[in-house]
Amino acid sequence: MSERELTCIICPASCTLKVRIEPGGSLKIDGALCPRGVEYAKQEVIDPRRIVMSVVKVVDGDLPTVSVKTNKPVPKKCIQEVMKATASIELKAPVEIGQVIIKDICGADVVATRRVKKVNSM
Ligand code: SF4
Repeated sequence: MSERELTCIICPASCTLKVRIEPGGSLKIDGALCPRGVEYAKQEVIDPRRIVMSVVKVVDGDLPTVSVKTNKPVPKKCIQEVMKATASIELKAPVEIGQVIIKDICGADVVATRRVKKVNSM
């Protein structure tokens, strides 16, 4: 049997959740004030996921980079894969908010979170 303590991040109440993993693999969760916290704890222990944020280089833009993020949480074990992919590409301005930068990586799309206008280059 092992035990983990988590802070629920679903709402500002920030409940402290105690998760006990029983010998058979079942989970016992204490400390949640609502079912959403129980679901959060299960997800976090069984298949933890995160939104990944990064930046991507932009050429001919009014900014040298654009901020990007995954449009949904990806498995924690995929974070490096997403970071490597964003580091390996270069976009050409203009870039629009919500533009898909990388399609279907670890079950999510990487999208731009700000606009980069095109500037005239000589
Ligand atoms: S368990 Fe429920 S009340 Fe507590 S932080 Fe999570 S979502 Fe909020």
